[in-house]
Amino acid sequence: MANIRLEKVRKVFAPGETVKLPGSGPAHSDRAAAPNVALDGVNLLVRDGETMVVLGPSGCGKSTLLRVVAGLTRYDGHVYFDRRLMDQVNPSQRNIGMVFQNYALYPNLIGYDNLGFTCRVRGRPHQEERERILATSEIMGIGFDKLLKHKPGRLAGGEQQRLAVGRALVRDPDVFLFDEPLSNLDAKLRVRTRSEIRRLLERFGHTAIYVTHDQVEALALGDRLAIMNEGQVEQVGTYALLYDKPVNAFVASFLGSPAMNLLRGKLNGRGSWELGDLEIPVPEIVRSRLRAGWKLILGIRPEHARLARDDLPAFEGRVVHIERDLPRRVQTLYVECPPLPDVAITIPAGERILPGDRVPVTLPLDRLVFFEGKSELRMG
Ligand code: ADP
Ligand code: MG
Repeated sequence: MANIRLEKVRKVFAPGETVKLPGSGPAHSDRAAAPNVALDGVNLLVRDGETMVVLGPSGCGKSTLLRVVAGLTRYDGHVYFDRRLMDQVNPSQRNIGMVFQNYALYPNLIGYDNLGFTCRVRGRPHQEERERILATSEIMGIGFDKLLKHKPGRLAGGEQQRLAVGRALVRDPDVFLFDEPLSNLDAKLRVRTRSEIRRLLERFGHTAIYVTHDQVEALALGDRLAIMNEGQVEQVGTYALLYDKPVNAFVASFLGSPAMNLLRGKLNGRGSWELGDLEIPVPEIVRSRLRAGWKLILGIRPEHARLARDDLPAFEGRVVHIERDLPRRVQTLYVECPPLPDVAITIPAGERILPGDRVPVTLPLDRLVFFEGKSELRMG
């Protein structure tokens, strides 16, 4: 096992550059005009034995980051496994197990041979190969041995993906890389395969980087999360830390479902945040760092807003849409009150409210989060 360290990693795709890699999805050949900065000075430490989930919207550079770690693409900056500088080490020497979104199995080999293929390529003795495959099969659990008898085309998506995970395990990699491995699976299989991957990683203590755009997956699998946006890592930490102490508005609104409400207003001459008729007092620690007239973003999570009229800052609005989440016994109301954007409020499912109703909304002061309007960095 090893820790993985990225230092100032930068990857720019030249205009028109295309690299088609197995399992990496469609080539981006249509982006001809400007150079494309896929990674923009990424620093990241993945600790030995840890699963780091890299979470971010589509196109933010997640797959490129994995390819850099795997040595499948050129880059500026440095990658270390423990103290070893990997920049000049070619992919086959990095001892990496990789699982992609679209399986990348060998279609004309049965499962068993798919698993053994990498061993054979790397010249392991036959007996050792057999033993590792059997051990892997045992780890992968019930029914896995059945998968070994068929060609991938005869297996369902989830089964193919189990096979792909098994294949990566057979290599006994120092580092495991997953690129959205569950996104082609239906909901039920996704949950099952997710927990299987989690158990495998826990049992073997592999150092892993797991890329996804799905925060439920991130929460289930990651020891820590790195939130990426536009080629940069915005913040690294446990889910709880990122949720409670987001460094900026992007992280704040990316985690949590529905997303945090971000109300873009300004600081007025009375030291309050203001937008339209709504005025909310701003804590001294925030106020003291701004001048009147400066842009200021007020954040409030849907689950922290309340339906009540009391002394707290409140406004009245019209419910335009309701989303019920019955398993969690909650419903989210979207409340319209121009010029505010529609404000999401999550309340118990039992409260009877209909679209079109007018409701009073309270924003508890101790739940408000403020972000500086330009940099969008959290204040206080
Ligand atoms: P993600 O995996 O987060 O969706 P990617 O790493 O695939 O993001 O892509 C990051 C950026 O780099 C995107 O703007 C994408 O278009 C660009 N990019 C990725 N691969 C290539 C490539 N082979 N050629 C040109 N641009 C690419
Ligand atoms: Mg990707």
